Amino acid sequence: MSDAPARTAPAPDLRPLDDDLLGLAHRHAAAWLETLPERPIPPQAGIEEVMDALGRDLPERGEPAAAVIDRLVEGAEPGLIAIGSPRFFGWVIGGTQPVALAADWLVSAWDQNSGLRTITPGAVAAEEIASSWLLDLLGLPAGSDVGFATGATTAQFACLAAARDEVLRRVGWDVEEQGLGGAPRIRWIAGAERHGTMDLAARYLGLGAPAVVACDDQGRIRSDALAEELASGEGPAIVALQAGNIHSGAFDPFADACRIAHEEGAWVHVDGAFGLWAAASPRLRHLTVGLGDADSWSTDAHKTLSVPYDCGIAMVRDSAALRRALSMHASYLQATDVGADPHEKVAELSRRARGIPTWAVLRHLGREGVAELIDRLAGSARIIAEGLAELPGVEVLNEVVFTQVCIALEDDAATEALSTALWDDGEVLAMTSRWHDRAVVRFSVSNWGTDAAQARRTVAAVGRVFGELRAGA
Ligand SMILES: *Cc1c(COP(=O)(O)O)cnc(C)c1O
Repeated sequence: MSDAPARTAPAPDLRPLDDDLLGLAHRHAAAWLETLPERPIPPQAGIEEVMDALGRDLPERGEPAAAVIDRLVEGAEPGLIAIGSPRFFGWVIGGTQPVALAADWLVSAWDQNSGLRTITPGAVAAEEIASSWLLDLLGLPAGSDVGFATGATTAQFACLAAARDEVLRRVGWDVEEQGLGGAPRIRWIAGAERHGTMDLAARYLGLGAPAVVACDDQGRIRSDALAEELASGEGPAIVALQAGNIHSGAFDPFADACRIAHEEGAWVHVDGAFGLWAAASPRLRHLTVGLGDADSWSTDAHKTLSVPYDCGIAMVRDSAALRRALSMHASYLQATDVGADPHEKVAELSRRARGIPTWAVLRHLGREGVAELIDRLAGSARIIAEGLAELPGVEVLNEVVFTQVCIALEDDAATEALSTALWDDGEVLAMTSRWHDRAVVRFSVSNWGTDAAQARRTVAAVGRVFGELRAGA
């Protein structure tokens, strides 16, 4: 030992906890979270202002880590949108459960590259436990493969990749070997009110645009129209169904649609980015009857389950199909000899251990807590719908079966004016969209903190803004 060359003191920036850096981050994070429920929800500064505050020029010499973190908070925070507010109803975006946030910090600190079972057993074990819990909670076939992707879009990609390769394999075409040039055409079929990311995932895979099947007034695919579409041709087919329409919250008729599609040999995928979670609630499970008959399912943990961005989940009944589509091998990578490696279930090879916060939330809530979370969101949506329906001239356009509420005023201009006034006011955030040729204001109840009291406060705040608009008009 004494012969070893003297070690020089490490440069300050190589010390892992320089200046209590994580303590500093913790204090800033706590301050943000404490003010979250009452701060105005829309961002208070724009991109240019934030760029000025952050400093636009690359420094010749760096600055101490703590100063970087202080600068980041001071510069960026005014430009943050309070997504975690219990009165944030924009798009379908979840908040963050504290236990998931704490677990996520550890995921970053541990920095496990979680693609391989043999290398990161601590992370993979937690993810594999979470995987089997997810299948159990969602009523999906035990033994299905579960992959942790960045979001529902990339989860859909993983599921559709398995679907595409498998339906072609059944007609004697090997995509892995032969590619897509000259392959039999796949009939790719989806409902008129599918989410736009289904088209995107299909485009990544060379499936083109879907044959579109008519939906009913709530946006559910019509089984008779699906049967007609399938009967109008032949050959390999993929059908996409939906659990949770982003405007109405409605669920496709899974039992009928799966039976019809399977009679024609089609692969059925269900996009359940937020709606799949209805299956975890004994009260709401009736909406998902037949869900387990499908072949693959995608959902998000970063929406309804309230883990931090980003975490989507791909689930595929036929593990071999998923693996054929997405696995890769290299001599320098130590592949598992038990089951599949995590990277064989999603598009990513290297990735963070993003399943760990999901494990933490499920461990924290348990089966009953998950059901209560889902019921709370749906209950709050009902309170909001009933309260807003009382306002003169406000119409609730959807049957409020789950977490979505769509309202409209007497004409599009009035509806858009309400949305703008809500944004300017800042106590409640809900965004405009178009549904069935009308402008709507959409309330997506996706935050674990939106309870009955917050729902009532939302109704009161919208009523106040609505009254001010009418008084001013
Ligand atoms: C949000 C959403 C998606 C896309 O999910 P990302 O996590 O943003 O990729 C897909 N389908 C539905 C129904 C959604 O609500």
